[in-house]
Amino acid sequence: MNHFDESEFKCCACGLDFEEMDPDFLRKLDLAREYAGVPFKINSSIRCKEHNKEAGGSKTSSHLEGLAVDIACTSSYFRYKIIKGLMMAGFNRFGVGMDFLHADCDPDKAKELIWTY
Ligand SMILES: [Zn+2]
Repeated sequence: MNHFDESEFKCCACGLDFEEMDPDFLRKLDLAREYAGVPFKINSSIRCKEHNKEAGGSKTSSHLEGLAVDIACTSSYFRYKIIKGLMMAGFNRFGVGMDFLHADCDPDKAKELIWTY
């Protein structure tokens, strides 16, 4: 990856990390960062079941599969740039929170959605 360090992808004390992330997902994320041209601060990526529960994730969360990230975002301009970059890289599932963006590309889930929290 050109824009991320492996250490940016980790769960809790459980030890799950970068190794559990889907490689194609990471390639696309790196490409999205390139297109966006603004920093992506990863709030959450791979999650074990316990951490997912703590984080309020759904039981079928793509975080459990290493197919999702939450990116810190509080500016409307950065939100636009980040979503644009992600879309250009092929992401088509987004969640918009007050201070973060969720993006995943789980092939088993419905495409072309933007939800809110
Ligand atoms: Zn964990």
